[in-house]
Amino acid sequence: MIQVSIVIPVYNEEESLPELTSWVKEVMLREGLSYELILVDDGSDDGSWKVIQEICQSEKQVKAVGFFRNYGKSAALDMGFARARGNVVVTLDADLQDSPEEIPELYAMVQDEGYHIVSGWKKKRKDPLTKTLPSRFFNFVTRLISGIHLHDFNCGIKAYQLRVVKNLHIYGEMHRYIPLMAKWNGFGKIGEKVVTHQPRKYGTTKFGIERFINGFLDLISVSFVNRYKRNPMHFFGTLGTLSFITGFIITIQLIVEKIQGLNKGIPVREITEQPLFFLALVAVIVGIQLFLTGFLAEMMTSNNSRRTDYNIAEELNMDH
Ligand code: UDP
Ligand code: MG
Repeated sequence: MIQVSIVIPVYNEEESLPELTSWVKEVMLREGLSYELILVDDGSDDGSWKVIQEICQSEKQVKAVGFFRNYGKSAALDMGFARARGNVVVTLDADLQDSPEEIPELYAMVQDEGYHIVSGWKKKRKDPLTKTLPSRFFNFVTRLISGIHLHDFNCGIKAYQLRVVKNLHIYGEMHRYIPLMAKWNGFGKIGEKVVTHQPRKYGTTKFGIERFINGFLDLISVSFVNRYKRNPMHFFGTLGTLSFITGFIITIQLIVEKIQGLNKGIPVREITEQPLFFLALVAVIVGIQLFLTGFLAEMMTSNNSRRTDYNIAEELNMDH
């Protein structure tokens, strides 16, 4: 069994690749760790794939998958995780900002101390302020939502037990929330290790300003999907019922007032002239719509294998 799988997403990083792969090799040989290095080319349009081809010819430990087009870092990681076979899976960025020197210690933390995930923490970060400030805010919010005490959720360098990555399905920009998704899957033993960080040596960053907007939208969908993917009706049904009941109660009240008014001979405004009437109307309709949405969502998920995609820890005496 291979001890470490190193997964590296690559998007237009031709200058860094030779240096990176030989550095990884040097560290692994020095430490005597068996390894495979999986490069996932995320549709690069520079010469990255050519460089990868050359490296793969001479290095049998280096394996590569190439996409036809650019799908994003999450997709690249997902592909790498699917291919990984090592006991411990370590991810690195391809731009030489993360140091392969961290791998042995990360490996030891996962293998010997039993962490499900160990996440890097770029304590002394070598990035411009436009990146570090929003990142602090982002980490703060994610800590609040998840209850996981990490300083640097989106650190590219992380180490996992193999079964953890095999249970992750990441897409969109969700690589930022891997610790959250892992925790929700039952892998809650999450550690942190301070890692060194270099300024980008070659090329430019692949993420622009849209990283913040997409990042937060994905946080909302990650939390939502995780919570309700198995029973969407619990979400829509609750809201729908509340809305419907509110509308119903207001309607009853309006009717009672009208009847009382008629009985006692006090003049009461026409029902249709009362603002509350319209509120009640909207509440009832919205309530029914939410309910219908819940039913539709239930029908969709009932055909979805994810609904029964349980995360089995162990089985005993089972014949398959
Ligand atoms: N990356 C990728 N697909 C993309 C964007 C980035 O595979 O669409 C890779 C990129 O090659 C690098 C890593 O993800 O290995 C992190 O990207 P980058 O260094 O640009 O991010 P930053 O350090 O600026 O957060
Ligand atoms: Mg980088």
